Amino acid sequence: MKEEVIKSIFNLKGTTLQIKLDILDIYLGYRKGARILCHINEQVEEIAKELINAQIQIAVGKGMVSQTANSVNKVKDYFDNNSENIEKVIPFYIAKNQDYADKLREADEGKNDVEFGRMLDYPDCCIKKVAESTHVPSIIESFHYLQENKRFNVWTWPVAMVGDASLLVHYPCSSKCLMSMDIAKKHFQLIAKYAPKYIVERVEKYHSSLYSIDNGIICIHEKNGNVSPLNNLYEVS
Ligand SMILES: [Zn+2]
Repeated sequence: MKEEVIKSIFNLKGTTLQIKLDILDIYLGYRKGARILCHINEQVEEIAKELINAQIQIAVGKGMVSQTANSVNKVKDYFDNNSENIEKVIPFYIAKNQDYADKLREADEGKNDVEFGRMLDYPDCCIKKVAESTHVPSIIESFHYLQENKRFNVWTWPVAMVGDASLLVHYPCSSKCLMSMDIAKKHFQLIAKYAPKYIVERVEKYHSSLYSIDNGIICIHEKNGNVSPLNNLYEVS
């Protein structure tokens, strides 16, 4: 039963790996709560069915929100922005029990990133970094602070989200964050065991490639040759 549910979550269509990992974290008890942003037309129904099947409780966020195209983290109140062309997404706060899901929603709507991060069970060290810098890092910021001499640690590389292949659903405090590495390894084990082959291949590709920034856009340069990604802590560029 458990294995079937895990496979079914990995097989959700049109859903990001990040959302799948968030759902799996709750299902497997790795974390107490998560927030997933679902596209109104394509995702809500399928994801809700899957959550019910996995006996996960949902608190539905207030109204609809849209993500601005150039910022992964910023969400705006949909009702403040009437444009037809914006992405329309709705937040689901998910947990094993309804009370926690409701409390998560309250914390997020209270706009306290630190308290919300704690409720999402992110590592304390990573929450502390957000508290000190007063904002959740952008993907571009993480591109810079998570590399050393153009090398990155495959277990702390949320930048792979550009290819929908990140093993983490939070921004690690540093490239050597042990808590984050532990989570990424757990996620990779799940992917290797239960995910369809195309996901495994994508994750390997985005953790064995080179990255650069061109005009503020993150570019990926696929590596040729016989690398065995995810075996070594650092992939040499
Ligand atoms: Zn950390």
